[in-house]
Amino acid sequence: MKEALFGKALTELRKITQEAGLPKFTAMQIADWLYKKDITSIDEMHNLSKKVRIALSQKFGMGLQTPVNVKSSTDGTKKYLFEANGRGYIETAFIPERKRRTLCLSVQVGCKMGCLFCMTGKQGFQSNLNTNEILNQIKSIPENNQLTNLVFMGMGEPFDNLSALMNSIEILTSDWGFSWSPHRITVSTIGIVPAMKYFLENSLCHLAISLHSPFEKERRMLLPVSQKYPIADIINELKNHDLKRQRRISFEYIVFKGLNDTHRHVNELARLLNGIKCRINLIRFHTIPGTSLEAIDERRLQIFKFALNAKGIFTTIRASRGQDIDAACGLLSTRELMKPEDTKFNSQSLKI
Ligand code: SF4
Repeated sequence: MKEALFGKALTELRKITQEAGLPKFTAMQIADWLYKKDITSIDEMHNLSKKVRIALSQKFGMGLQTPVNVKSSTDGTKKYLFEANGRGYIETAFIPERKRRTLCLSVQVGCKMGCLFCMTGKQGFQSNLNTNEILNQIKSIPENNQLTNLVFMGMGEPFDNLSALMNSIEILTSDWGFSWSPHRITVSTIGIVPAMKYFLENSLCHLAISLHSPFEKERRMLLPVSQKYPIADIINELKNHDLKRQRRISFEYIVFKGLNDTHRHVNELARLLNGIKCRINLIRFHTIPGTSLEAIDERRLQIFKFALNAKGIFTTIRASRGQDIDAACGLLSTRELMKPEDTKFNSQSLKI
């Protein structure tokens, strides 16, 4: 397979054009075609000579891949399934809400973190996605020109694939790239502290931290990997940074019935987050096979939210979307993996 041109940063394009003996400005012209125009082949780069286009095509392809399946919800949410070059499947969710059109991106095939409530975690880890595969999720869906917000909250832990994440953010936010505002991009993490520190120092994107409990022991039960990165370390790291530069910090909190929804939790959350300008985003649990965790009822969820607001913590409840199409992250790709070989989709069979 040819190397993908889509997903290369300007520095890499400069290296490629320099090695081919092309003028310096050619790299910028290629970046313009890749990230600002709607083309699907190198041959469409009309301001490059035919000779240059042929030379580039001998070594490189665009590297764009269409999804192999799509599921549409009655609420407008769509879940796209991409094949990760023979390494399994990833999911990308398109979520339209009033004025927003959000795309939820995956960064890994499977995940190492093994969170108790997550279907992707149950798949185990297959591989990291590269920058091309991360950005392809944006470029290769029919709604790519409608998007207003990007969230790295799909399959995988973004800070466990830091280099591809940061390369993707560079291409997304650079003037020569997609020119996205970093304030329209949110990265979600379970809190891998060294990578989080790097991200906070090198990006202005918003950060969402999976908290799920203010108590260390309980959190470790839900997120086994968190024993390496205690909550106190995460909070200390956040307090070390100037978070005023329009960056939004939010704490994701999946509410489980009878587990993390008590007054004790409200009080401890208020103590823990004191002094950090943040919000808590409460999330309804979407039941997955093989776990005894239960979803909280609507009334208790509202009570929990009011109790947190009363403590001065700005708290919201995330709207549940796509419940009729395997809303839980990783369910669609797990079902695909479990299908018998001869019933799987392939790119030729796709109809969107
Ligand atoms: Fe990985 Fe996120 Fe799932 Fe945890 S919740 S297993 S970090 S994908």
